Amino acid sequence: MLDIISILFVLFGLGFLLASIKPTYSICKDIEHKGWCALFVLILAFILGYVFFLIVLILNPVSIVELGLSAILAGGGAFVVIIIQLSLHSITTIKNDAAMRYFESRHDALTKLPNRLCFTEQLAKAITVSKPFAVVMVDLNRFKEVNDTLGHAVGDKLLVQIGQRLQNSLEEPNILSRFGGDEFALILHDVDEETCLHETKKLMDSLEDSFVIEENLLVIDMSIGIALFPNDGINGDVLLKNADIAMYLAKQNKQHFVLYDSTKDTLSPKRLNIISKIQNALNHDEFELYFQPIVDPKNLTLRGFESLIRWPQPDGSMISPGEFIPLIEQSRFIGKVTRWVIRHSIQRIHAWNQGKLRLNISVNLSATDILDKELVPYIKKCLETHPVSPDLLCFEITESAIMLDVDRAKHVIDDLFSMGITIALDDFGTGYSSLSLLRELPAQIIKIDQSFVMQITTNTGDYAIVKSMVELCHRLGKKVVAEGVESLEVLEKLNAVGCDFVQGYYCSKPLSYDDASSWLSLYKERGNKVTELGYKPHFI
Ligand code: C2E
Ligand code: CA
Ligand code: CA
Repeated sequence: MLDIISILFVLFGLGFLLASIKPTYSICKDIEHKGWCALFVLILAFILGYVFFLIVLILNPVSIVELGLSAILAGGGAFVVIIIQLSLHSITTIKNDAAMRYFESRHDALTKLPNRLCFTEQLAKAITVSKPFAVVMVDLNRFKEVNDTLGHAVGDKLLVQIGQRLQNSLEEPNILSRFGGDEFALILHDVDEETCLHETKKLMDSLEDSFVIEENLLVIDMSIGIALFPNDGINGDVLLKNADIAMYLAKQNKQHFVLYDSTKDTLSPKRLNIISKIQNALNHDEFELYFQPIVDPKNLTLRGFESLIRWPQPDGSMISPGEFIPLIEQSRFIGKVTRWVIRHSIQRIHAWNQGKLRLNISVNLSATDILDKELVPYIKKCLETHPVSPDLLCFEITESAIMLDVDRAKHVIDDLFSMGITIALDDFGTGYSSLSLLRELPAQIIKIDQSFVMQITTNTGDYAIVKSMVELCHRLGKKVVAEGVESLEVLEKLNAVGCDFVQGYYCSKPLSYDDASSWLSLYKERGNKVTELGYKPHFI
């Protein structure tokens, strides 16, 4: 009896040891650590030991001591198999977690498509293969309206479905990636111009049928920009930038797609040079803000300042915004520069208004800023960090920027307006906007362009236009700022026609922060008057 029980014990132990061979082997393969290999060899040695002991038990009468020993061997086998199984389980969980985290770091959480990081890696690989391919930037048109009117949940579902449709229209090994927001990017492998256009057509067709989301029937189209390797760039950054430029051109010209064309992009080498320097300038805080006073001509009190960006150069010169802003307007950098200006303007006005002053600050927005959906949330965040009453913040938007996409501009303007922020229509009179735009836009301020103001004392036509504009704006409940006021005569004439505010070299040129602070001290010293005697300017 004793021998049967002992043999069974050892057989169990042996079974357990044999059962631990496979998991131990797979751990050894996965984790190249000497310890696990030693354990594997040990288990094999134990198996031999168990077999030897089994033979001893079969051939000899079994004592009570051997029975105990057999029981211990059975327990030992069970112990080994449990430990190995638990280790395997933990190792698999850790490995799965790591794989998931790796996936998440390289994929978009919403659509599960590759993200920008993953995309740029694939782009770098495609370049090393050296076969022609295309980089395609896709931006959805009017997606913001879906988010605004139907909510983010519907917007998210729409993005997922769009991602799926675009993906389904692609053939392996082409890559679709979501860059964020409503922006997608693709690599189309092994294509020339003709096949690329064929693939682009397939992408557009995939969005032709409407989407049904929570009983909403949604039609969505997109603007596509295409850059071809190697003709339009031989490195990833340049290809992405050029596809981006082409995409903006498509948006601007209301075309479905645009192939990058370096001959049309005449400023390209200069633009690329500026763009490469801009990133550095942003990283090293090279920009400076200048401030130009905006003054009430009736009582010479200061309404506030317009922030104007400057880019000092190592040789002491300054690049004016008129030079570099248009160059970067079709690139993503404009958004970064605008954010820099907004952040610093709010900081400055916050600092100045710590005393009793209630100064306004006006910030210029570029045409493409109005297409930037993340801008309004960014402004909200800045106002939280530096609490400034939103009505002291004014955004100046030019007529021509609004005309680029009136509906989109209205949305952004409505968002800003509902936050209590003031809106000014800049350079008024130089664009082609209609009077209905003036009526519909919630812009509280109209800035008459300096080209109408400068000769107001000598040119009767200009005088008539300015006078009528002021009357019209007042009837619509809007205030008027006249720009480019360079002399006392012009200022007096503007005051006589009821212009609410003036801005120009006569009151002051744009000032650095330190100069503006001294200007303000002087202003306060003189009893909150821009000048002490008459209209004598202080800083010309
Ligand atoms: P703007 O918004 O019309 O700004 C007024 C421009 O007129 C400024 O030129 C200012 O220095 C100039 N100015 C002011 N008073 C007078 C005057 O009495 N006589 C003359 N001749 N000029 C006067 P600035 O600073 O060179 O800016 C040029 C343009 O660049 C601005 O025109 C604006 O469109 C753009 N800009 C400036 N800063 C920014 C910025 O931070 N962001 C964006 N997006 N654009 C900016
Ligand atoms: Ca302006
Ligand atoms: Ca202006």
